Amino acid sequence: MNSFDTLGLSAPLLEALAAEGYTNPTPIQAQAVPHVLAGRDVFGCAQTGTGKTAAFALPLIERMLSLPRPRAARRCRTLVLAPTRELAGQIHQSFRAYGRNTGLTTAVIYGGVGQRPQADAMMHGVDVLVATPGRLLDLVGQRLVDLRSVEFLVLDEADRMLDMGFIHDVRRIVGMLPSARQTLFFSATVPAAVRDLAGTMLRDPLEVKTTPQATPAETVSQSVFFVSKGEKRAMLVRLLKEQSMSRVIVFTRTKHGADKLHRDLDRAGIAAASIHGNKSQNQRERALAAFKSPRPPVLIATDIAARGIDVDHVSHVVNFEPPHEPETYVHRIGRTGRAGRTGEAFTLCDHDEQPRLKAIEKLLRRPIPHGNEMPAGPPATESVQQRREPRPRSETRGSQRGRRRSERRPEGGAERRSERRSDSGARASDGTRPAEKVSTQPPRQDGGTATLAKKPLRKHRRAL
Ligand code: AMP
Repeated sequence: MNSFDTLGLSAPLLEALAAEGYTNPTPIQAQAVPHVLAGRDVFGCAQTGTGKTAAFALPLIERMLSLPRPRAARRCRTLVLAPTRELAGQIHQSFRAYGRNTGLTTAVIYGGVGQRPQADAMMHGVDVLVATPGRLLDLVGQRLVDLRSVEFLVLDEADRMLDMGFIHDVRRIVGMLPSARQTLFFSATVPAAVRDLAGTMLRDPLEVKTTPQATPAETVSQSVFFVSKGEKRAMLVRLLKEQSMSRVIVFTRTKHGADKLHRDLDRAGIAAASIHGNKSQNQRERALAAFKSPRPPVLIATDIAARGIDVDHVSHVVNFEPPHEPETYVHRIGRTGRAGRTGEAFTLCDHDEQPRLKAIEKLLRRPIPHGNEMPAGPPATESVQQRREPRPRSETRGSQRGRRRSERRPEGGAERRSERRSDSGARASDGTRPAEKVSTQPPRQDGGTATLAKKPLRKHRRAL
């Protein structure tokens, strides 16, 4: 199948896809769309970057158009559950972009911002509601959202949902939905707990897989550097200065590690931004907007905060440590090499971390090439380190002080807490309009300000 015309989508959607610049469906879209249109449940094993959002959004929009129903107050027809606010925001934007010619309405609900605009957006009901579980339950508990009319349910990134401890919330939400519904379930990896959850939610699902479980994109070349803990910072600075990296994400395991690395890069004169669960929504959006700009700082991220970042042209991913869970490695490096482009992933590994590396190699079923000599390449003339930008005051000393207690924990708890806060007095800080008629607005970038750079990736490295 090599054209959208053959998938059974109608003209308003085909026009929106043309406007997005999509010419051919990705494999998961080609596999899933006809079956979702036919009303089947789907269990999709798909990494981020495979086009899975369109694989569920397109046929669900089509289904809603073909079975029109009046909107009812506080209700929705399609409910999409996502683990993080970033991912929820991106899915919302995708529905708006694909549904721009249809007149369908959408809303997004997540924690960490005021609930009032979200409740207002639901007052007259919407066609598509994208939500993170904790805030959704808050609003349902206050009778500001009513889930009794849901016809289509999507659970996205189920593995991450379980990692973040949302399993009970998800089960509670599913228990509130009509049992006569169509359910689409997506997960990048399929540990036993994910399969169990899917078993309770799906009826005779079609299983679609774009790549074998936990196989990273073919287009990402990987290498590991063996360095002691004490030398990692210097090694990273060398990599950043000597490689031609146009857009880099550096992953750290803890929030504290991300903050410390941010300060170190600042000291080394390398422009950096960081994103993790202790950052406010505003700080995250500022960091993402800068990262999407044509001259991006190095983005330092923890796993949970980075999940759902959908930025084109990420040239490099650096793992400051190998992650504890081998599957996380696959998610991380999946940030680059997207949509058929090439990318590179470097992992810094010290002696104690070698068992983790072994576990990753076992999952990949192949060794990661060693790159212990610095990868060759001319010093970058326009690489990231040249572009030092002042950090906003709120992200420097003052905001570091309050973080001491939670900062040594791996990422997860804070995100979940802020997700659960009711935040009734706070103002929405991001300017996202929670409900919009998808037909009238051009798609916005996350953060609302930056446009994605379309710079080609420059590649200078030795063959591994
Ligand atoms: P996802 O896996 O849903 O996060 O999508 C990854 C990226 O691929 C997003 O930037 C999409 O806009 C893009 N994308 C999705 N489907 C297609 C397609 N058929 N052709 C080109 N790009 C696509």
